[in-house]
Amino acid sequence: MSRLQGILDEGPVRPKKSLGQNFLADPVYLRKIVDAADLSPRDVVLEIGPGTGNLTEHLLARAGHVVAVELDPRMVRLLEERFAGNPRLTLVHADILATDIGQLLRPHLARALVYKVVANLPYYVTSAVLRLLLEAEVRPVLAVLTVQWEVAQRICARPGAMSLLAVAVQWYAVPRIVTRVPAGAFTPAPKVDSAVLRLETRAAPPVPVADEALLFRVARAGFSQRRKQLRNAVSAGLGIPPEQAEAMLRAAGVDPKRRAETLSLGEWAALANVLAAGGAPKP
Ligand code: SAM
Repeated sequence: MSRLQGILDEGPVRPKKSLGQNFLADPVYLRKIVDAADLSPRDVVLEIGPGTGNLTEHLLARAGHVVAVELDPRMVRLLEERFAGNPRLTLVHADILATDIGQLLRPHLARALVYKVVANLPYYVTSAVLRLLLEAEVRPVLAVLTVQWEVAQRICARPGAMSLLAVAVQWYAVPRIVTRVPAGAFTPAPKVDSAVLRLETRAAPPVPVADEALLFRVARAGFSQRRKQLRNAVSAGLGIPPEQAEAMLRAAGVDPKRRAETLSLGEWAALANVLAAGGAPKP
């Protein structure tokens, strides 16, 4: 029985499924995660869901400061004991989804406001955390996140297999799968494998666009009826006549018969720019 299993079997910290508590104790994968984050003593790291602190320990060995946000009070107590008095760790008992990341990190950051995120995420918050990080006022320069294998693949998809999630993540960051993590590397083992996903955030949009909000509006419309041709999906999604949707698509150089999953970021941007130039319909 592993040391971790021993700790978890003691009543007060029995893993809670509802909080996505699948702990990673395998040092091979923990090392791959911290390697992917290219950490140095200059780095401030935000860790989401430190749990029992296995990843936290590796992060503290390489980064300058770790701010760890944990929702489960039992885990917070355990972490306080495990890292008692370490001045390079700030433990925060909070729900990451209700946390203002900028406000939380500002006291620990130099003027450049540069930080990284490293997390073995509870699966149920994956999309909400991605959104929080990528749309934050102060974005991380890098995020290394353990997510479900299928989700990582969807995020890294190329035109032909794109989804709204892929468009959104790739608009803000360059994603790469570092490694697959078998379900058996976690305690307790989840039902599916995971992936270590590395997101390098972009300093500027990948293609110029007049209005980013319009890009997401038209992409949401396009993906609202995945199986339909863009002419019909965009028409229904934006509430405009099919003829107008077709004209818009043609003006952007996109064949109206194509489906949303085939479009590149550049094509979504072209569509948003046509929409902006023509006066976008009211949402
Ligand atoms: N980092 C540890 C590891 O790698 O073994 C634990 C990872 S476990 C998958 C996810 C952790 O996130 C759990 O400790 C859980 O209590 C915590 N958690 C779940 N929801 C959270 C939330 N909304 N905000 C902060 N932490 C959360």
